[in-house]
Amino acid sequence: MTSNFGTSHYPNLLSPLRAGRTTLRNRMIMGSMHTRLDMEENGLHKMAVFLAERAKGEVGLIITGGYAPNTAGLIEPGGPILTEHAQARELQRITDAVHRHDGKVCLQILHSGRYARQQECLGPSDIRSRINKFPPRAMSIAEIEQTISDYVRCAMLAKEAGFDGVEIMGSEGYLINEFTVLRTNDRSDEWGGSEENRHRLPVELVRRTRAATGPEFLIIYRISAADLVEGGATGEEIDRLARRVEMAGADILNTGIGWHEARVPTIAYPIPRAAWRFAAARLKRVVGIPVVASNRVNTPDIAEAILAAGDSDLISMARPMLADPHFARKVREGNAGKINVCIACNQACLDLIFSDRSATCLVNPRACRETEFDDGPAARARKVAVVGAGAAGLAAAAEASRRGHKVTLFEAADRIGGQINLARAVPGKAEFDEMLRYYSGQISDGGVELRLNASPGADDLRKEAFEAVVVASGVDPRTPDIVGIDHPKVVSYADLLAGKRNAGRRVAIIGAGGIGFDVAEYLCHSQPGEAPKARGMDVAEFHAEWNVDASLAESGGLKGDPLAPRQSPREITMLQRKATRPGANLGVSTGWILRSSLAKRNVRIMAGVVYERIDDRGLHVLIEGVPQVIEADTIVICAGQQSNRGLFDELKSAGIEAHIIGGAKEAAELDAMRAVDEGVRIGQAL
Ligand code: NAP
Ligand code: SF4
Repeated sequence: MTSNFGTSHYPNLLSPLRAGRTTLRNRMIMGSMHTRLDMEENGLHKMAVFLAERAKGEVGLIITGGYAPNTAGLIEPGGPILTEHAQARELQRITDAVHRHDGKVCLQILHSGRYARQQECLGPSDIRSRINKFPPRAMSIAEIEQTISDYVRCAMLAKEAGFDGVEIMGSEGYLINEFTVLRTNDRSDEWGGSEENRHRLPVELVRRTRAATGPEFLIIYRISAADLVEGGATGEEIDRLARRVEMAGADILNTGIGWHEARVPTIAYPIPRAAWRFAAARLKRVVGIPVVASNRVNTPDIAEAILAAGDSDLISMARPMLADPHFARKVREGNAGKINVCIACNQACLDLIFSDRSATCLVNPRACRETEFDDGPAARARKVAVVGAGAAGLAAAAEASRRGHKVTLFEAADRIGGQINLARAVPGKAEFDEMLRYYSGQISDGGVELRLNASPGADDLRKEAFEAVVVASGVDPRTPDIVGIDHPKVVSYADLLAGKRNAGRRVAIIGAGGIGFDVAEYLCHSQPGEAPKARGMDVAEFHAEWNVDASLAESGGLKGDPLAPRQSPREITMLQRKATRPGANLGVSTGWILRSSLAKRNVRIMAGVVYERIDDRGLHVLIEGVPQVIEADTIVICAGQQSNRGLFDELKSAGIEAHIIGGAKEAAELDAMRAVDEGVRIGQAL
């Protein structure tokens, strides 16, 4: 799966584009993302620094996170809003910062409609969404008219603030999208009923915004190019809406995929790259204005291929610009191979946002935290050892060498990566290969001396006179104390995922944490007795798995229930001792995908068990005091990990400066996001 990109040319991606009366320097757009930065203290300054860094990185156009045109449109109380001149003056900090680097920036106008997490929640009708506890109130005609005026005012204020244009957010199931389909619009006045009436709101919004802002101002309309919900639009309806907003005065048609309440995943790692290009390609053939492809485009090669095939004119990449602010510049300079690629984990961006924290990025902890980091060299170059080349050690070595330290990186195995090498075996997680590619480049470019098959002790490190040692020696899988644990049918997750062992047809998994779930998913997609194979990312397979109708002939682009049962090659039971809900700690935006995938394959998950013993029959447990046997050919241990911190303690007692990071520091919360963050921060602190 590792892409060898960086050697190709990107003539399409790098060519300028004229849209309306604006010229964009290339075809790369940083798509809108609600980072929550603006809700922090001094948030506007942080936002300006964050966006300026992307403009400096030469992205063709930046689209801000959504700003509500009025209070009812707020995504949550205290969210971004633009209704007053004073706010426009403040926002000039953002536009000035972007323009200073010759960038272009549009403000997204977003009315959340029935997704608003607030009491005053409005929609075309009073039909509640299953993902919002607040029921919407149906808007009166006067309220609709007022809302249009509020959009126009918001666009005028954006112009006053120096924005190059606006994006009118018409997808993802927010207010405008709700008006366009019968699922959420059962009105019988001129704003509902016929298709023309349901399309009236987006058309009027674009028409009146154009009339007010004039011909120079860029207007982007983000259309829902596939709703992925029952009762959503068909392809032909979407085509007609696209033509209508073009006629109304839009300069660019951006595409959004899937409503937030859709039961089809749209952007996380299990979705193959470019899985949604068909939706942009369809629109490209029905309108004359430039069309943007979006969602799961994370490398310049995929982006170039989409443009070269004529499937879109521009590529929107939101998370990839978090991961690497200089994505576009690296493409222009012929350094595409040095791009830090977004691995679609959602862990440090969407999952943090959904838990009311500001976004950052797993592979780039500087994202949205630019003001906390120092880009300069260290005051004094030191001789540094980093022990362990997993995520934490790689990040530490790369950052320390970037700052001018002389770094030696030791790794006990015969290759770098640590736990990443295991994660990459899980379906969809082959994206982790990109982390390994990036860090391999960083450590070789930075002159880091890499010593594989090396496990130095404190004495070895002292003899080489290292001035500081970073211990990133990771973890070992825990072996639980259960009678029969050394039975031949017992396998550790590490051996299984490394391909050293296989599993039979009936499998019991001890431990239902993140790795237990990943192992179950891995087993559901590999045959008993079959050698593990690199998990590809097949678009057709993905569409079939979730009943996506890529022809968009069916309403919502679905040809059946996305959660319909699927065949599994195995009978799997997952177990945990706690009585709490298994998988409660999985990622907010990805856990449901894993849970759904396993439920479709009838994986049994049992909580509150007591392990008794393992024998030829399988795993003997007590459930509410009642003995049961989980008959199994294989028992996989996913019972967490223990830290490898012996070296750190040794170094401390020997009086050598030592720092401990990642899983070696805290195995209980073993987590690539924390590992990389700690690695970069220690690299800064040395
Ligand atoms: P984990 O999430 O802490 O889960 C460990 C599991 O082992 C729990 O189910 C625990 O349940 C069980 N366990 C602990 N001690 C045990 C013992 N002595 N005997 C039997 N069972 C025991 O750890 P993990 O699954 O190894 O994951 C490691 C980290 O990576 C976590 O932070 C996880 O969030 C992250 N990760 C996340 C994902 C994801 O979100 N998709 C995927 C992979 C990894 P009981 O104690 O109740 O039995
Ligand atoms: Fe991409 Fe993960 Fe970073 Fe989000 S946290 S931008 S998904 S790599």
